[in-house]
Amino acid sequence: MKNLVVQLNEDDEPSYWYNILSQMPDFPMPQGDKNSMALLGQVLPSKVLEYEFSRDERIRIPDELRQIYLKVGRPTPLVRANRLEEYLGGHLKIYMKMEGQTYVGSHKINSAVAHTYFARMDNAKFVSTETGAGQWGAAVALGSAIQGIKAHVFMVKTSYEGKPYRRYQMQMYGANVHPSPSELTAFGKKALESDPETPGSLGMAITDAVQYAQENGGKYVVGSVVNSDIMFKTIAGLEAQAQMKSIGEDPDAVIGVVGGGSNYSGLAFPFIGEELKSGTKKRRYIACGSLEVPKMTEGKYRYDYPDTGGILPQLKMYTLGYQLKIPAVYAGGLRYHAVAPTLSLLMAKGMVESRDYNQEEAFNWARLYSQKEGYIPAPETAHTLPLLKELEEDAKKDGKKTTVLVSFSGHGLLDLGNYASAFNYV
Ligand SMILES: *Cc1c(COP(=O)(O)O)cnc(C)c1O
Repeated sequence: MKNLVVQLNEDDEPSYWYNILSQMPDFPMPQGDKNSMALLGQVLPSKVLEYEFSRDERIRIPDELRQIYLKVGRPTPLVRANRLEEYLGGHLKIYMKMEGQTYVGSHKINSAVAHTYFARMDNAKFVSTETGAGQWGAAVALGSAIQGIKAHVFMVKTSYEGKPYRRYQMQMYGANVHPSPSELTAFGKKALESDPETPGSLGMAITDAVQYAQENGGKYVVGSVVNSDIMFKTIAGLEAQAQMKSIGEDPDAVIGVVGGGSNYSGLAFPFIGEELKSGTKKRRYIACGSLEVPKMTEGKYRYDYPDTGGILPQLKMYTLGYQLKIPAVYAGGLRYHAVAPTLSLLMAKGMVESRDYNQEEAFNWARLYSQKEGYIPAPETAHTLPLLKELEEDAKKDGKKTTVLVSFSGHGLLDLGNYASAFNYV
């Protein structure tokens, strides 16, 4: 079969990021008191803060950073899932954008190198960040190692204890990893006092990391949700656009999973932006989440805090409420209470559809996918696979082939322990 693996030349690596805000005149601004807005100015790298509110359509990627992208596994290949297509019934053409093939194993490196680059430009003493399952932390740890900056990573306590290999990966890159809630911040101390057995959450770890940067003169780097982070991650979508074009294809549907929303948006926004600009709707966009944290299907569209401590400005987004106690599902990257404001607005307007799938269903698809395609998906990535069955049925009904572009957000080789517990291999 032709075009089983579509590679992009080094020279064709995008030289700019795509900014969807250029097509969203009605984007609802963050709301916060003077203190929370000032906090952003204090802890974010200055360029990142500038990009957060930029309306420019394209932002040039600094040459040095473009070289760094090439060093950490970009451009990633686009791979046709032909054996899965056949299994499903043959009405789909499935192209997977293989973000699991970056050196850290997920899409998260796409913005981590940018945030740490801009922190270095500000001569930051260190960078701090939160991590759930550890993928974001690993990406920041590598980004920091490349920039020669110290990284302090606040890791959700359950993952810190339950996912030691991610921690070792971060430590290998030279990062300091702290369980969150931590003893290092006022917020963390208070959280531990009120519940010493707390498993922690991504929302809590954000507050921990922001306070730590604020109190110790570092820069805080955000791994999802916000406009600037998503803009950095559009490098994947821009590559995919070039790859699809190079083989004369155009997707009928663009799908992927949502933790905070940067993975899906990073792939989909260059495509969606094209439609917003021309005013013609031609594709389906569907974002998937975890039914155990059903923000995609049961969240309310309103202003809410992005962090559990409520120290950051509020954002308008689909949310289950910032103080939600989130169940300990294995797909740690999906354990977040809200959806990125840009993606939320597109969902509110009906431009992007949403689905939630439970862990058992997602994991069964992960196992099937591994056996058909040979590549073991991350538990998060697996939550997009059940949707392929639905798309196959739709295509069969319509009697025509449907081309699907999937954000394959990560590999599951450091998550085998989770699959092993779910399938009783241990
Ligand atoms: C973090 C993560 C996600 C969720 O990412 P968001 O950008 O927060 O939506 C999905 N898949 C993998 C493999 C991840 O590591």
